[in-house]
Amino acid sequence: MSGFRAVVTDLDNTLYPWVDYIVPSLEAMVASLESTTGLPRIRIVQSLKAVYTKYESNEYPFAIQESDIFQPYERDFDSFNRLVVDPARRAFKAARERYLRPYPGVLEGLAGIRQRGLRILALTDAPRNAAELRLKWLGMDRLFDAVYTLPGYALPENVDPAIRKRQALGHYRSATRVCELPREAEKPSPDGLRRVLADFDLSPGEVIYVGDNVLKDMPIAEAVGATGVWAEYGTYVSNEYRERLAVISAKAVTRRHVAEESPARWPLAISNFAQVLDVLDGLRWTRPARRKAARGRRR
Ligand SMILES: [Mg+2]
Repeated sequence: MSGFRAVVTDLDNTLYPWVDYIVPSLEAMVASLESTTGLPRIRIVQSLKAVYTKYESNEYPFAIQESDIFQPYERDFDSFNRLVVDPARRAFKAARERYLRPYPGVLEGLAGIRQRGLRILALTDAPRNAAELRLKWLGMDRLFDAVYTLPGYALPENVDPAIRKRQALGHYRSATRVCELPREAEKPSPDGLRRVLADFDLSPGEVIYVGDNVLKDMPIAEAVGATGVWAEYGTYVSNEYRERLAVISAKAVTRRHVAEESPARWPLAISNFAQVLDVLDGLRWTRPARRKAARGRRR
């Protein structure tokens, strides 16, 4: 039919709105730390940001015990864990469970791709642990043939023994095969997508690549010769959330997850992930080079 054999998709802001969940979750965690330690919010935020920058992820789960501000409490890890870390972790989790959701059309779209007999692969710039856990939390970790991530991080020395045990038992592992790419494969390097194609013996013409970032995702589709589909809906982030995110998230980390506002566009755009099915079915297949000038950006 269409000749497509696989859909490779980005994760953050393509399958779920990352900002919509990370902002309230981090804020809930910071509020918990303020109330359990009495420290000023600004000190807490700055100290956490430094750790998140080091690990290049706002989802690094051991940021509290590794941040400099809390070091005096670490002398007695058990009390610190019970009185400070645990409540903060629970606050984050409660907000995450409330706010982390796939975009409308994502589950339907993924199911439709499967029904058509295509492979589904994920390619993300998130570290392994964060990507893997998030898919598990979303209940989506069985939906992929494989997930390609950037390298993960090891457990820190000082950690709740229960967490160490759960880690050893594979509790944090996703049901899908996860493949860690080298750091240098971060998009817009096309190395990750090339690796996916090689691993699954796919030629570029057989692959659709979906992503929200015009400047990081679409260039990799172009570089390997796959059909790039721009998840334009993933770029709509309210200024209110952008402002709140800038307070709690380091710029370098934010940039990895959220496309910066840019006038750049990509001709084959979708407003809902399920429209990937229209592309597969040839209903809206238009070669980018032949498209008319793009219409104004809708906000
Ligand atoms: Mg993205």
